[in-house]
Amino acid sequence: MNRSLQKVTGLRCVLCGAVYAHGEEEYTCPRCGIEGILDVEYDAERIGKRFSRRTLEADRDLSLWRYRALLPLPDDVVPPRLQVGFTPVVEAPALAKELGLGAFFVKDDGRNPTASFKDRASSVGVTRARWLGRQEITCSSTGNAASSLAGFAAEAGMKAFIFVPASAPEAKIAQLLVYGAAVFLVEGPYEDAFKTCQSSVEAFGWYNRNCAINPYLVEGKKTCGLEIAEQMRGRMPDVVTVALGDGCTTAGIWKGLVEMKRHAVIDRLPRLLAVQAEGAAPLARTFARGDEHIEPVEAQTLADSINVGSPRNGIKALRAVRASGGAIVTARDEAILSWIPRLARATGVFAEPTGVAALAGLEVAIERGLVRRGERVLHVATGNGLKDTRGAMRSVGPPKRIPPSLDAVRRALELSK
Ligand SMILES: *Cc1c(COP(=O)(O)O)cnc(C)c1O
Ligand SMILES: [Zn+2]
Repeated sequence: MNRSLQKVTGLRCVLCGAVYAHGEEEYTCPRCGIEGILDVEYDAERIGKRFSRRTLEADRDLSLWRYRALLPLPDDVVPPRLQVGFTPVVEAPALAKELGLGAFFVKDDGRNPTASFKDRASSVGVTRARWLGRQEITCSSTGNAASSLAGFAAEAGMKAFIFVPASAPEAKIAQLLVYGAAVFLVEGPYEDAFKTCQSSVEAFGWYNRNCAINPYLVEGKKTCGLEIAEQMRGRMPDVVTVALGDGCTTAGIWKGLVEMKRHAVIDRLPRLLAVQAEGAAPLARTFARGDEHIEPVEAQTLADSINVGSPRNGIKALRAVRASGGAIVTARDEAILSWIPRLARATGVFAEPTGVAALAGLEVAIERGLVRRGERVLHVATGNGLKDTRGAMRSVGPPKRIPPSLDAVRRALELSK
């Protein structure tokens, strides 16, 4: 099916630079194969006729569809009923002081309908699949993209086929089953789930929601950058921190920020601090070396959403971080865990391990002088803490058990003094 969309000028391969017309290739560059990730390019002038700071201010749709002029869909497309985006930004002055920063903000993306940032991609991806007339959709995921797709497929009345590592946290698997997806728990790491999903796409012809493969998904993720720009206009932070796995989230946030500068909603851009777990840090190594060669590793971190050994969108993420003047650093698992209660107690935002990973990385970056005293930082908390209560419990230790008596309460209070 080839539906025309005049605001899209083409899709450019990140490797060879070839440009394809909209509708010509839905996924990757046929010359470069699966590594040839495509990037959607727009006619900014055409869009600028209908989209500006003024039109935004008049728009009362408080979801990501307020940015539909900037998305690869017709402006009158019917969006899903599940509300995604326009998540709140919470300021935490006490935490800023503790870290020696000028200001600290957290954007709470765990408040999306299936409780993670991935809803941004699913909302756009499922809407696109529906627009193309597709009935069956698939993805592989460390967990959140899967549970998100399952939710949006359910809403749209589509069939979802989901591939996740058998080790995914139980809550995420529960979401898949509750939403009625066909679930495959793949024995092996995320890379195996990804490959099994890819061969199934070839065999069965399902619509592919894998974020790196499908260029339109990053367009959904860019709405977080669009929002940061709109919400922080006039008080733009110096640094935006985010956890880095495949790279689509980092690349998407950057793309959104850049588009908002192009459309003159903001006049300056922040630096990106992208953070990998020490046990799953192939992109941190590439970044340190200064090239674009990505060496796969055997990934091992309890931040399951970034437990990625072969990042599928690494080049886009590396270019985004470098273009921003930012950095990629790593964080240890224990430091990541310790940030779950620290963020929750300072802001009320309860995030899954990956949702705080970039805060452990922020401390590393401050130590190394990559983020300076007095700078203003916005952190994107990408996933809700209820997604992985086991990780959360490890970060705080067991609660007190007491017999049902006031005496026991008194004794326990004495002990905890
Ligand atoms: C997927 C995910 C990320 C990282 O996104 P990538 O596109 O893989 O880099 C970060 N946080 C959460 C909660 C996620 O689910
Ligand atoms: Zn190519």
